[in-house]
Amino acid sequence: MKKLSIILICIILIIFSIPSFSAVKVERLRFNNPDFIKGMDISSVISLENSGVKFYGFDGKESDIFKILSDNGVNYIRVRVWNNPFDKDKNGYGGGNCDVKTACEIGRRAAKYNMKLLVDFHYSDFWADPGKQKAPKEWENLTLDEKCEKLGLFTANSLNEIKSAGADIGMVQIGNETNSGIAGEYTSENTAKIFKRASEAVREFDGKIKIAVHFTNPEKTETIKYFADFLNEYNIDYDVFAVSYYPYWHGSLANLTSVLDYAAEKYGKYTMVAETSYANTLKDTDGHPNTVSENSNNSGEDLLWDFSTQGQADEFRAVAKSVNNVKNGKGLGVFYWEGAWITVGDISGLNSEDYENRLESNKTLWEKHGSGWASSFSVEYDPDDAGEWYGGSAVDNQAFFDSEGRALSSLKVFKYIDKEMILGDTDDNETVNIRDATSIQKFLVQLKDINETAADVDGDGAVTVKDASAIQHYIAKIKTDYPINQVID
Ligand code: CA
Repeated sequence: MKKLSIILICIILIIFSIPSFSAVKVERLRFNNPDFIKGMDISSVISLENSGVKFYGFDGKESDIFKILSDNGVNYIRVRVWNNPFDKDKNGYGGGNCDVKTACEIGRRAAKYNMKLLVDFHYSDFWADPGKQKAPKEWENLTLDEKCEKLGLFTANSLNEIKSAGADIGMVQIGNETNSGIAGEYTSENTAKIFKRASEAVREFDGKIKIAVHFTNPEKTETIKYFADFLNEYNIDYDVFAVSYYPYWHGSLANLTSVLDYAAEKYGKYTMVAETSYANTLKDTDGHPNTVSENSNNSGEDLLWDFSTQGQADEFRAVAKSVNNVKNGKGLGVFYWEGAWITVGDISGLNSEDYENRLESNKTLWEKHGSGWASSFSVEYDPDDAGEWYGGSAVDNQAFFDSEGRALSSLKVFKYIDKEMILGDTDDNETVNIRDATSIQKFLVQLKDINETAADVDGDGAVTVKDASAIQHYIAKIKTDYPINQVID
């Protein structure tokens, strides 16, 4: 009896010491574009690694995050580039301190695992978005012509450095969310000159690289159409018309498709979502408030998904589907924004003294390595926003990794979304054998993660012991009721 209780306790300990698996179900999409981009922006990742963050794949082993992403279907990496995100004493402004050197490192590692790179030039020393499009410090007092000259050189030199580091540059974004202007220029005439010089510099560098323009607020349909018309009117040479799409701000998916259709149909451009993300929980883990939380951005008619790993996967698929629906096969892909910007130290569940200590330690890391969205050093460049509200990650609950850096099941959306699944192939190794039946049994006691879609052999909408039996019967050739070993459509 005593022996039995020890065994029982051991089993319970084993079950609870292993991360609980909550597999996701993702229906396949048929992409009109065979090279559909399933991308991720992980611009802050080097600063996280410098802060001591580690990442773990589905085997539970520590691994290079670029390998984890590539193994799980991510085929493109996006990185933002700021000209000089440092003060005169070389203190970083934060947000990953993403200068050209950082982009080199990210591009090199992405290429090592066969992922292309999208270089996202902000043409600023820190965040460029609809609220701010400030010129880099070095360009502040230049005439427009001088600024264009500098910008052309900066573009060419940066691309040359990033390519020389080993990156496979597939696309370049000339400006980031450039609704209000670009590089400190705000009139149509002036911004057009900036766009033109940037575009020329990329074309001169390598004619095969796709050039993307990027705007936001797609819910403002007429504004987005205006930008497409503006680019045409000023003869700006580009390939991809991209927008951001955050479902808590940016309207319906049907509207998203329709604004992209406009650029695709009227001007023959490729289209894409350059940024999207969704929360898998409303919990914060680093002590810095999140964009989507108990208090903000958590409701609205366009939020169609739960705040769970399944919801996060569903959101990505839904956005990908909306881009895939763009007319004439002009939907090029989707990038998930900052899918790995997790905490540098988990504050959840701590008592108040430990909480304060951990928060202090996090703040030290954010300041030292730039792993928060902004550091106190950014005050000289961006006094009203970053200089005032600096801190940690506002999206740690929108990453595809938990607070310890372990891959969440939602990450599998990148693979499953266009994977030819084989019925019964629960471990995605392209064959059905007895291990698949065992995997289902292990999954049922939460000891293993499996491909739930492939595992639902009898198609009753749930993975049960009947599915394991069906696979056993199939292998023993006793009964072949279901199309096991055939591709699921
Ligand atoms: Ca946070």
